[in-house]
Amino acid sequence: MVNEKHYSLTPIVSRWMNDLCEKKDLVYQAIARYDSPINIHCKDNFTENIDAYSAVFQSYGLRSKIYFARKANKSLLFPLSSWKANQGVDTASYREITQCLDANIPPQALVCTAAVKNRQLLEMLVNNGIEIVLDNEDEIALLHQICEEIGRKASVIVRLCGFRKDNGILPSRFGFFMEDAFDLISSRIGNPNELPHFEYKGLHFHLNGYSVEERALALHQSSRLIKRLAELEIRSESLDMGGGILMNYLSDEREWKDFRQALRCALIGEISPITYNNDGLGIILHEGEPIGEMNVYPYFNKINKGTLLHKILETEFDGQPLHQLLASLDVEIRMEPGRSLLDQCGITVAKVAFRKRDTSGNFLVGLEMNRTQLRSSSADFLLDPIHIQQSESEESADEQIDGYLVGAYCLEQELILKRKLRFKTTPKIGDLFVFVNTAGYMMHFYESEAHLFPLAENLVYDSEKEQIREDICV
Ligand SMILES: *Cc1c(COP(=O)(O)O)cnc(C)c1O
Repeated sequence: MVNEKHYSLTPIVSRWMNDLCEKKDLVYQAIARYDSPINIHCKDNFTENIDAYSAVFQSYGLRSKIYFARKANKSLLFPLSSWKANQGVDTASYREITQCLDANIPPQALVCTAAVKNRQLLEMLVNNGIEIVLDNEDEIALLHQICEEIGRKASVIVRLCGFRKDNGILPSRFGFFMEDAFDLISSRIGNPNELPHFEYKGLHFHLNGYSVEERALALHQSSRLIKRLAELEIRSESLDMGGGILMNYLSDEREWKDFRQALRCALIGEISPITYNNDGLGIILHEGEPIGEMNVYPYFNKINKGTLLHKILETEFDGQPLHQLLASLDVEIRMEPGRSLLDQCGITVAKVAFRKRDTSGNFLVGLEMNRTQLRSSSADFLLDPIHIQQSESEESADEQIDGYLVGAYCLEQELILKRKLRFKTTPKIGDLFVFVNTAGYMMHFYESEAHLFPLAENLVYDSEKEQIREDICV
C-alpha cells in the first residue's frame, strides 16, 4: 500500500501498440525467440506522419519532398516506407546509403548530409549520382579531386549557416556563411577553372533546437540568397529546411507541469524523491535552491508536427507570410524530419529478471536489458512504461508498489528510467515492460555492447497480418 502522491507521465499510445499489448502471446513468442529486449516497429503511423507534412505543404500550394532522416533509427522499414510514399531519405553514412541502394531505393530518392565524408563515401555518391550536401572547403577539394579522377559530375547542395537573429547569429559547426555560399555558387561551382564538375542543385540548413522563429528566419534568409542567385540566372531547384520539428509524447499537459514542479519540490526536500537518489535530471541544487532546467526533451508539446510546420510557414516578413514568399521562388521545399516522422512507430520490450531492495530500501525491478537500449541525449525518458503480466493477477490497492527499473550493466547508476514508477501490481519474474514511442533515437542512437551483450533485435509488426517478423533483410 502506498500513500504518497505519485506523478504519472501517461504516454500517448497508438492503436497498433495497444493491439500488441493485448495480443501478448505474440510478444512473448518474439521475446522467447530473440531474447530480451526487442524493438518492434510498425509503419502505420510513419505513413500517416509523412502524409500530414505533405498535406501542410499542399495546403499552401508548395512543391515539397520529405526526406526521412535515417540517423534517427536503423531499421530499413522506414527508408523503404518513405520511398514507397514517393518521398526520400536523408542519409549520413556509407552503410546507410548502400543498404538503401541494395534495397532498391533509387539514388534520386537519397541525399547525403554526412558530417564526415571520406573518399570511399564521396566516390560512391559520385558514382551513383546522389546529391551531396557540402559542408566545408576540405570536402570540396576532395570531391573535386574525385570528380577529376573518375570523370563524372557531382550534384551538390550547399549547406548554410550564420543565420542572423536579433543582433547575433545562430551558432553552428556546419555549413557556409551566406556570403561565402554566394561566392561558391556564383563564381566557383561550374567555373571551368575552379569546380567544373560540380552541378549546383540547391540550398540546405538544419538547425539545432526546435524554435519556430529560427526556422522561419533561416527560410527567409535562404530565400533571399535564392533570389540573388536567380538575378544571375542561377537556378536553385530545392531549399531544404532540415529536421527538428517537435512531436508530443504525453497525453496530459497537467501531468507534465505537475511532474516538473514536483521534481523541484523533491530536490529541496519538501516531498520525498521522485527520481533515483533524488536525481535532478539536469537541475542542480545551489545553496538549497534548485538551479537550471531539466536536461530532457520537451515531452509535452501542444503545437507539434503539422501544426508546427504551419506556424513556421505562416510567419510573416514585411507583412508577407513565408509560404507566399516560398511559393514565388518556384523551388521544391524539402524537409528532413527524423524523430517526428517516427512518432508512434516503435516500442521496446524487456523481461523482468529479478526484484530486490537496495541499501536505502528502494524497490528495484531488474530487466533483461541495459540502459543504452533506451537512451537519447536527454537525462531521462519521461514516459510511464506499460506493465504486461505473464499471468494476470487482480490489480488492487494493496498490491501497488513504488520502485525503479534497473538494467544489466554493472554500474550503480544503471537505471533504465531514473523516475520512480508506481506499479499497479508487484512485477513478477517473466513479466514484460513495454516502453512506447522509442523509435526516434531512444532505441538505437546510444546502444552499446558492453559486457558483450548483443544489441536488441529489430522486429516489424504487420498490423494487417497481425504478425511480428524480422526487419526487412537485404
Ligand atoms: C539530425 C538531423 C536531422 C533530423 O533531425 P530530427 O530532430 O530527428 O528531426 C535532419 N537533418 C540533418 C542534417 C540532421 O543532422
